Amino acid sequence: MKIFVENNPNYLNEVKYIFSLFAFNKKIAITFVEAISDSELSIGHLEHNSIKIDLNFYVNLKNGMYDHMIHFKKSSFIELADGTHDYLSTAFYLVSCVQEIRSKAVDKFGRFQYASSFQKRFDLIETNLVQICFDSLSQLPILSLNSGVVNGNSRIFLSHDMDSIHGSIMQDGFFTLKKFRPDQLLSVLIKNLIDKPSWLNVDRIMKMESEADFTSTFFWLVNKGKVDERLSNSDYNINDVKVRSAIESISKSKWENGLHKSASDDSFSVELDKLKTKVVGNRYHYLKFNPEVDFQKIEDAGLLFDSSLGFAERSGFRNCYGQPYRPFNFKTGKAYNFIECPLNIMDTTFHNYLKLNSSDLEKATIDFCEKHKKGNVLSVLFHNNYISDFKYKGYITAFRNLLKYFYESDLKSISQSEIIKEYYYEY
Ligand SMILES: [Zn+2]
Repeated sequence: MKIFVENNPNYLNEVKYIFSLFAFNKKIAITFVEAISDSELSIGHLEHNSIKIDLNFYVNLKNGMYDHMIHFKKSSFIELADGTHDYLSTAFYLVSCVQEIRSKAVDKFGRFQYASSFQKRFDLIETNLVQICFDSLSQLPILSLNSGVVNGNSRIFLSHDMDSIHGSIMQDGFFTLKKFRPDQLLSVLIKNLIDKPSWLNVDRIMKMESEADFTSTFFWLVNKGKVDERLSNSDYNINDVKVRSAIESISKSKWENGLHKSASDDSFSVELDKLKTKVVGNRYHYLKFNPEVDFQKIEDAGLLFDSSLGFAERSGFRNCYGQPYRPFNFKTGKAYNFIECPLNIMDTTFHNYLKLNSSDLEKATIDFCEKHKKGNVLSVLFHNNYISDFKYKGYITAFRNLLKYFYESDLKSISQSEIIKEYYYEY
């Protein structure tokens, strides 16, 4: 389909970007043409355009107005002057995380907070609103896409952030003492001291996953110890023989390694050197990153994948979209080359933030997957230490039950490399 976008500097790049994502989502082949007379569909703010967008929205963006309170006065859609929904601009605002740009609503780690978000305000954290915009747009008679796209089952991007491997001896040990189980304490000590750190459980995780026909990605920290009063990196040395052997066994398998970018000031290139194994993707430790600044660093490092875009304190869609995508670069007006696979569900959200237990996590994950069963990639994170006996033993049960649920519901796993291949598109 030949598409013409009005040559207006306020929105030309933004509209091309979001319409390309829409076309990719709906599997329509498009080309952008320079003259309206060559087009089958035109987009702009003028009377003659077949899809109309709100010029004011883009002018406000160019003037540095990013807050959702400005753009979404009454409803969760950007509206045209006649009150109809501007689906393209709404999707652009959400997918591109515009609400986070220069936001002061950040926590002590500098992370954008759910409490101040668009999603909290409209109670939409579990709503794939961008997909709703795309589906509504595809119903417009001018697009005549009423047949729609038949989506297959959603896939699961499963991952493990390797923050701690030595914590077992103290934390599991203390747990057994609290429960007056000296026999278990002995077993914790023997396992950790004679065999290997119990939380260096890569082989155990891979075995559990392979039984459900699943694979996953392990994100490794290359820096150890405290960063400052509040932040710590890992409790292991990335050059430890047992750690190296775990990384190598992953490299040789269908599972994948990734960098867990530490909270230290090291650049990506320094950390990737320290990791000493080739990886394509990253996740920021503590999910501590700012898309406006840190997406550029992922791009500059030559990485092709990231899965950090989630709220630590709440499950759901941080950009209201259920598929991996190429983020928009506001400096260049183009898409970044890497693929962002937003993070939807994390064990510590339940344990540390919501103060809920492992069965709440299990139930919430199943509910979320059931709600978004078709056409999405749902990203689920279990830290390695939550897949262990003793202190976190409820979570290993939840993990096992979820693998069984994924298997029985035909929600297959998808890897970083597969996502890069499948979700990269030219425009
Ligand atoms: Zn971490």
